[in-house]
Amino acid sequence: MKNLKPFILAITASMLMVSCSDNETNTIDDANAKLFASHSHETCSYIDSYWGSNAYISSTIVNQSETNFIKNQNVKIADVFNISTIPLYFAKGSGTANAISYGSGYIIYGEELYNMALSQGGRISCAMVQAHEVGHQLQYQNNLPTRRESTARATELEADGFAGYYIKKPNGYNATWTQASAAYNFAASIGDYNTTSSGHHGTPAQRRSAFRLGYLLGDYNLSVSSFDYNFFYYYDNYVLPGALRQHLEKPADIDEDLHNFILSKMEELRKINSGEISEEEFEKL
Ligand SMILES: [Zn+2]
Repeated sequence: MKNLKPFILAITASMLMVSCSDNETNTIDDANAKLFASHSHETCSYIDSYWGSNAYISSTIVNQSETNFIKNQNVKIADVFNISTIPLYFAKGSGTANAISYGSGYIIYGEELYNMALSQGGRISCAMVQAHEVGHQLQYQNNLPTRRESTARATELEADGFAGYYIKKPNGYNATWTQASAAYNFAASIGDYNTTSSGHHGTPAQRRSAFRLGYLLGDYNLSVSSFDYNFFYYYDNYVLPGALRQHLEKPADIDEDLHNFILSKMEELRKINSGEISEEEFEKL
């Protein structure tokens, strides 16, 4: 869980340039099969500056079984959020400890990151990363998050929240909290303390509490925009300040049952965020 390379889990890119040995240049974001095939071999390897210079696009990741698993997850994630399936590509080779959600509507999942997630937390961690990346697509599509910060933190924490929501949903990963612990631990392990860096993803504790809040919200059926509204209402007013602000009046547009349920978990969420709850205790919640 330690000494991981830094990941970029979201970037906005208008297109993905792929240069070949014959100097042909093209984009793969139209999911054109012929184009994809012609750019997926090693003689034509350069993807973009976010990937290793010898990394290349592939139609599989790890092996056929893992490829089928993550593709199936990608379909289920889209289903839970009621969107069209997001085109998913794989990057192989060195310099692929990354997964990137591109602003032009597709995701590239790197094999090195996939293997890291698989070995540290099993398939649920691999699925969590994919749900986080799809979360960024939801943000692109809906101009979210509504909360803006000078760093990527709010964007990244909300993506962790979307991932938690998916991991909980009965028609999603449908995991119990004990099963989900591997996934949130993996998310926490790639948190950072570079709080003034533009790429700041949230501290490990904040990533855990964001994932947990999303998981709790998974008990309810929320549209993407109402997820955003609820997520930041509780995160900003209760989790981040680290205080139980019971005096706050429930906004009229928040469901009463949901409100009482989330408030009943607020002391727990606050302790996760402050670090008062240990990793082991957290897994037992
Ligand atoms: Zn991200």
